[in-house]
Amino acid sequence: MSKLDICGEIQVNLKQVNSNIRKAEKSSGRSVNASQLICVSKTFEADIIKHVLKAGQRVFGENRVQESQKKWPELKELFDGVELHLIGPLQSNKANEAVALFDVIQTVDREKIASTLAKEIQKQQKFPKLFVQVNTGSEAQKAGIEPDEAVAFVTRCREVHGLEIAGLMCIPPNGENPGPHFALLRKLSEALDLPLLSMGMSGDYETAVEMSATHVRVGSAIFGNRNYST
Ligand SMILES: *Cc1c(COP(=O)(O)O)cnc(C)c1O
Repeated sequence: MSKLDICGEIQVNLKQVNSNIRKAEKSSGRSVNASQLICVSKTFEADIIKHVLKAGQRVFGENRVQESQKKWPELKELFDGVELHLIGPLQSNKANEAVALFDVIQTVDREKIASTLAKEIQKQQKFPKLFVQVNTGSEAQKAGIEPDEAVAFVTRCREVHGLEIAGLMCIPPNGENPGPHFALLRKLSEALDLPLLSMGMSGDYETAVEMSATHVRVGSAIFGNRNYST
């Protein structure tokens, strides 16, 4: 496919995803724009991402600090109003760079990261919005705090580390019905009085919107499949 075709196809996909989100909001009685689209641009080059920026999208998600540092400082110079979310696991030795670059960090999930972020935030006087990631499926290989530890952890983030937590995030297990995971995350957010819920990806974002997601993270439904070999 030519470059022009790819560009056009990405913009059509973006429109379609936005329209599906609005439909899901409507059918579930939520207000218009209650759910925000985070366009997940991991593995895609700046030149491809520009097509989405030119179409007006401003909220993006990346899962690696280093990859983001290569792409986003320049893109943020070129386009006003970009909001960049870190949606992948954060190592404490990258907290410094993460606080400097990201507007939202969705993957606070352990004591060490909470304390390191608190120090960096104080040092840089930069205040990214923070989400706590919950491992709703209790998967051994997956990041996130265990559901039954989430309330205590968020309380410690607030009281011990002085962090303001804005919401919760989850990635349901592959191949499982995501509904119960979204419901669990919503229940925890209500218990903690947290307004924001990041849940739902290309395969299930409409369900997530219907179940009160304030942020859905959609990559391949916009950009097409990712190629990890390059
Ligand atoms: C890659 C990724 C997404 C987007 O996945 P798609 O299925 O391509 O929409 C969403 N959330 C997280 C945490 C991711 O790493």
